[in-house]
Amino acid sequence: MTRHYNFSAGPAMLPTAVIERAQQEMLDWHGSGMSVMEMSHRGKEYMSIADKAEKDLRDVMSIPDNYKVLFLQGGASAQFTMIPLNLLGDKDSADYINTGVWSKKAIAEAKRYCTVNVVADTSEGGFSTVPTQESLQLNPDAAYVHYTPNETIGGVEFDYIPETGDVPLIADMSSTILSRPIDVSKFGMIYAGAQKNIGPAGLCIVIIREDLLGKASASTPAVFNLETQASNDSMYNTPATYSWYVAGLVFEWIKEQGGLAAMGEINQRKAEKLYAVIDGGDFYGSPVAKNGRSWMNVPFTLPDADMDAAFLKGAAERGLITLKGHRSVGGMRASIYNAMPEAGVDALVSYMHDFAKNQG
Ligand SMILES: *Cc1c(COP(=O)(O)O)cnc(C)c1O
Repeated sequence: MTRHYNFSAGPAMLPTAVIERAQQEMLDWHGSGMSVMEMSHRGKEYMSIADKAEKDLRDVMSIPDNYKVLFLQGGASAQFTMIPLNLLGDKDSADYINTGVWSKKAIAEAKRYCTVNVVADTSEGGFSTVPTQESLQLNPDAAYVHYTPNETIGGVEFDYIPETGDVPLIADMSSTILSRPIDVSKFGMIYAGAQKNIGPAGLCIVIIREDLLGKASASTPAVFNLETQASNDSMYNTPATYSWYVAGLVFEWIKEQGGLAAMGEINQRKAEKLYAVIDGGDFYGSPVAKNGRSWMNVPFTLPDADMDAAFLKGAAERGLITLKGHRSVGGMRASIYNAMPEAGVDALVSYMHDFAKNQG
């Protein structure tokens, strides 16, 4: 058996220890005589799995008691619609920060329901920077401010949390949740598709301050109503039971690694190693301004796009896979979420040095 270092942006690597644990428990979970996939979501076995996952996530992220944690389906993309449906209340506009592909998709969906004020837009620079706090043209009447702390495709990450006064801040943390400690109390709502830094696809985690629930527009479908989901413990309909279980194993794994403080140190070190190679000569380049560089998704270019195929082929020969950049950006992208071992980054760094030397 060989496990490659898989730099996919998502679905992405899971910790090997988590997959092994799922494998051990596959046919018979804790003497229940059932696989988790076969359990009733309302049975005592599954309820204990679901409760423990939520409790561990609350511990790991220090989520305050006045926040609900939901385990939903439809991915982060469903939230692009659910946010305006649930949070506009009696307001008719919302503020959005546009920093890349995912922000744009969130904006396009919100426009179906309300006036979207784009309060900062970095498209002119090719989405390579983070707007400053001072440049945000915030509206005090907005229902909320939405932003994407880490743009997965562009590899652009905010180095600060926007200050929005009394207007709730909503963050699409799909590709940065659990990468380091964050202060949840600064947010009205945090959401994240699971397949990057949480677990298998099929699950979207929503962390929402309780006072923001109960404002859904009358046309909101029940499964898309956050209050309905919250008052049914995310079991208004059958949840993505297996993905939820594996996410729980990932939360346990994070605790064993020393929690988010430890993850943050490792992630920073991993990212710095890659940026050091990129900046260390004139062979590799980064499209992203230095203060906006992501710890999780590291895009880089070679001197000539004609070299890309050879780079990818040589990488694959060393077991370094899925390094091709997103089709909209080109170049390379190394996604290095929590589950990417530091040894995987070291292997990529050493391959990058060798490739540059052989071409140079
Ligand atoms: C992957 C991603 C999404 C889309 O997630 P789905 O689960 O496919 O809907 C949205 N936002 C960000 C920042 C992402 O990285």
